[in-house]
Amino acid sequence: MLCIRQLSLSYADGTQALCDINLQLPTGMVGLLGPNGAGKSSLMRTLACLQTPDKGSIHFANIDVLKHPMALRQQLGYLPQYFGVYPNMSCYALLQHMAILKGINDSTHQKQQINALLELTNLSTVAHKHVSTFSGGMRQRFGIAQALLGNPSLLIMDEPTAGLDPAERERLHALLVTISQDKLILLSTHIVEDIENLCPFVALINEGHIVESGAVQSLLAPLQGSVWQSPRRPSSDRHILSESYRFGLPLYRILAQQQPNAEAMPVAANLQDRYFYELAKKGHSDAAH
Ligand code: ADP
Repeated sequence: MLCIRQLSLSYADGTQALCDINLQLPTGMVGLLGPNGAGKSSLMRTLACLQTPDKGSIHFANIDVLKHPMALRQQLGYLPQYFGVYPNMSCYALLQHMAILKGINDSTHQKQQINALLELTNLSTVAHKHVSTFSGGMRQRFGIAQALLGNPSLLIMDEPTAGLDPAERERLHALLVTISQDKLILLSTHIVEDIENLCPFVALINEGHIVESGAVQSLLAPLQGSVWQSPRRPSSDRHILSESYRFGLPLYRILAQQQPNAEAMPVAANLQDRYFYELAKKGHSDAAH
């Protein structure tokens, strides 16, 4: 269980990235969903002890994370959104270096673990190539391999599917589901589908605030029975949850107690509906002020 209380973070230029975050996250896969700029990376970096918050507390298992960051690092795997520049080293050598930093010093154990992770992330055949020459997807898989070194009990992954092609994305999903049995995997993304596929628990974040959190089914319950899909725009824009296209034709998802137009069909609410509902609610309340 990860317990975050009254966590706030601002940057030197005065940007308030996190405002009074309160969250209790269970073991398993947890999604952190929000638009770009919502504060996801700021929260991830703060949880990984790479930034110090202005106030608040973080507890993981029995560790007071802000007081004992080294104790957390022993149990943490972190996949950042950007790695920055890669040193001029092979994938294998870089993993070896990172293993040592994580305290995996025994050479047999180290070799076994690195080989298993290379296999898992499908990088065995390129293990001796420099990471700096890797494609986006290969770099992402390298990032996942390094995050899994030491079998961490808390895995923080910032936009893990960025840059992956559909097959790689499926493979990563399967991998995450397999390893999530005894870990807390916190996955940040703006891709609702990734969370719907993987996470039984979700937190929605917008403008530095947690808008909602809970089991996905409980977040959908209030909208069930009121979501419609129609190729025709409803009379009031206030009812539109989302507007997309299918085979080049418009498709509206509409929130309404009664059938909004003759073409509208009732559909089951999904996480994207709840996400857009929360964003629209915020937009309306901003407009009213
Ligand atoms: P997300 O990961 O959801 O896209 P971020 O955590 O990156 O959001 O950003 C949250 C807010 O903090 C944004 O307004 C962003 O511009 C701002 N921000 C992020 N990093 C910095 C920084 N180093 N200095 C100043 N502002 C920042």
